[in-house]
Amino acid sequence: MGLLTGKRALILGLANERSLAHAIAQKLADEGATLLLTYQGAVLEERVRGLAEPLRAALVLPCDVGQDEEIDRLFTVVGKECGSIDILVHAIAFAGKDALTGAYHNVSRAGFQQALDISVYSFTALARGAAPLMPQGGSMLTLTYYGAEKAVRNYNVMGVAKAALEASVRYLAADLGPQGIRVNAISAGPVKTLSAKGVRDFNSILSVVGEKAPLRRNIDAKEVGGAALFLLSDLAAGITGEVMHVDAGYNIIGF
Ligand code: NAD
Repeated sequence: MGLLTGKRALILGLANERSLAHAIAQKLADEGATLLLTYQGAVLEERVRGLAEPLRAALVLPCDVGQDEEIDRLFTVVGKECGSIDILVHAIAFAGKDALTGAYHNVSRAGFQQALDISVYSFTALARGAAPLMPQGGSMLTLTYYGAEKAVRNYNVMGVAKAALEASVRYLAADLGPQGIRVNAISAGPVKTLSAKGVRDFNSILSVVGEKAPLRRNIDAKEVGGAALFLLSDLAAGITGEVMHVDAGYNIIGF
């Protein structure tokens, strides 16, 4: 018996084998969860179906979180095929390349709205769709970053989005707690993924963390998977509204 045997987990945010969503999916599958995976658009379908096979995912469905109809369709299909789910993982963020370089205050209205829409509102919309499919309670998780707490060079509007996402975690936890649904976030240290490549000078962020973090190294995506397993399983039954750092301790260092 695994920690998640008999549980169904809907995971959004798989792009390739480096995605944090993939490390989380692997860990949840290892512990017996049945996976329901999504892909952002036709371009990613084949790749995500390829990743889904070894994970023995039960469903692979499209969902562009920028489209209300796609979110509605996702939950209609999941409800029809599975009846209920136990876990929701949101591992999605987006900001245009221009918004991730130079001065934050140069962000355009459209760039600001897009970053907040895709990276923040989507978690609330998904939580609203998932909650009715969790009649026995459940657990939701999103992914954030230190740039929500401190001004990190080039992270810019994404830092503002992550701050809003962390606040959303607390409001969703307060809303959904009475239904036995827990909502938490992992604040992951930098990991080289497709999205991370969009942040200018990402390699220097990795170097600074590797040098200054108490563990004197960067984290591995698998460590995010392990922490996600903990938060999503009954081991964390008393934890909700929390932002847990998985960053080799970097956030506790002052000087
Ligand atoms: P990734 O590029 O592998 O994953 C990002 C995912 O977002 C992709 O699967 C992409 O398809 C999806 N996405 C973007 N726009 C979407 C849309 N409109 N509809 C549906 N899906 C959409 O990168 P990742 O680093 O694994 O990112 C996952 C999460 O982890 C993000 O929220 C990111 O901010 C967060 N995070 C990453 C790091 C890091 O250093 N990599 C650190 C902390 C937090």
